[in-house]
Amino acid sequence: MSYDLLVIGGGIAGATLAGVMAREGAKVLVAERTSTFSDRVRGEALIPWGVEEARRLGIYQHLADTCGTTVRWWSTPQNRRDLFATTPSGNGFLDFYHPTMQQSLLDFAAASGADVQRPVDVIQVVPGEIPSALIRSGGVERTVFARLIVAADGRASRMRTIGGFALQRDPPCTVIAGVLHRNLAIADDAVEVFLNPGQQELAIFFPLGANRFRSYFARRHDRRVRLSGAADVYAFVQCCVASGAPAEWFDAAEVIGPLASYDGADSWVPHPYCNGIGLIGDAAAASDPTYGCGLALSLRDVRVLRDHLLADDDWRRAADAYAEEHDRYYSDIHEVHDCGVRCSSTSVRRPIRHANAPCPRPARIRAASRISLASARTRLTTRPSGADSSAKISAVRSSGGHAVQRPGEVRRLGALVRIRVRWTRSRWHRPAPDDVFLPV
Ligand SMILES: Cc1cc2nc3c(=O)[nH]c(=O)nc-3n(C[C@H](O)[C@H](O)[C@H](O)COP(=O)(O)OP(=O)(O)OC[C@H]3O[C@@H](n4cnc5c(N)ncnc54)[C@H](O)[C@@H]3O)c2cc1C
Repeated sequence: MSYDLLVIGGGIAGATLAGVMAREGAKVLVAERTSTFSDRVRGEALIPWGVEEARRLGIYQHLADTCGTTVRWWSTPQNRRDLFATTPSGNGFLDFYHPTMQQSLLDFAAASGADVQRPVDVIQVVPGEIPSALIRSGGVERTVFARLIVAADGRASRMRTIGGFALQRDPPCTVIAGVLHRNLAIADDAVEVFLNPGQQELAIFFPLGANRFRSYFARRHDRRVRLSGAADVYAFVQCCVASGAPAEWFDAAEVIGPLASYDGADSWVPHPYCNGIGLIGDAAAASDPTYGCGLALSLRDVRVLRDHLLADDDWRRAADAYAEEHDRYYSDIHEVHDCGVRCSSTSVRRPIRHANAPCPRPARIRAASRISLASARTRLTTRPSGADSSAKISAVRSSGGHAVQRPGEVRRLGALVRIRVRWTRSRWHRPAPDDVFLPV
């Protein structure tokens, strides 16, 4: 059996590529391992420049109609930023529940003419002039040939290893924990962000529509605490409160999905194309989820690869050109994200940074000039250090942890830490508008 394009994986990257290429008349097979999508605690907030990519791919309206919620405000305790008015594209975030988004994009691929097969497991790829893949479905194995095979099988990509690509990784940096809440007492049109710079911790809440919210808590990896499973839900809420989230937000909240933690450090493949096999999405480069650019980067990969494939009948040359361009834009994103870490190399602490938290000056300016940022206007202050309030969290956590939240106790702990949070806030800076919301 032969196709123009075999796409391995039906996530945002694979399903979108399959859809947009099938729409252009290519014969496409997309192979997805799972039979239904479930909550894996994955990206659900498409950052403004990613929304622009979705528009350029012609999938924005489909996402908005089937699963998306537009989010206009970026809200911190210090200010409320209107993303419609302050981002170059005039977009806010487009948020969605990840499993619904994946299903919606696979439906789009099928409706565009792609052959969507699931559940099938791709177990082997063979590079070459005409690359091939071995696909297993219901215990039966068959070989599929294609002009081009694209692996979009996620951050733990097996095809990347089988295809012989060398993976590079940043040193451990952050650990991010996430859970799905219903009935948080917050607005449904704002991302709520709390940075606790003294402890180098971040709590962030994304509205997903239908009264659901994805809540994240990120901290430095060397705290050696990974929140995971029902037993850690109580500690998760405590950590969010310790970062500044009002305890009363959680009074009526329910947890409606798994709690899971992930390492934040970037991993990537230089030049993600070789001899008939290309990589896109997380398989090509998984950026630190703390910065929330993974979905946008995946859509950028799809758009750039699509444009090269449509412009050049020689798909090997076209995929090579995609890989070259990928190296350029991913390294820009990486540098912007990484500038804080690199600048603090003289410090014992490695900072957590998010979206509009300014970076220390020298690397920020270097990174900014690489992506033609107009200015690096940031009021910088020295990072405060101080008593480790997470010791309190750890103490409560080690006393047992609870699957159900106890709002009264959360409130008391919140009162304790609020004093400290207020102190650190007073030494922190206002967010700057020139940041990762800019397109690269
Ligand atoms: C905790 C966390 C929070 C995040 N938050 C954000 C955020 O707020 N904003 C943002 O932009 N990004 C975020 N991201 C990143 C974002 O989730 C990813 O960048 C994005 O989902 C990558 O999509 P993908 O299609 O490359 O991979 P995936 O979504 O992982 O899809 C891969 C697909 O391939 C299938 N597959 C795997 N192996 C095979 C095989 N052998 N055969 C067939 N199918 C296979 C899988 O079943 C899966 O459906 C976050 C990531 C994490 C971990």
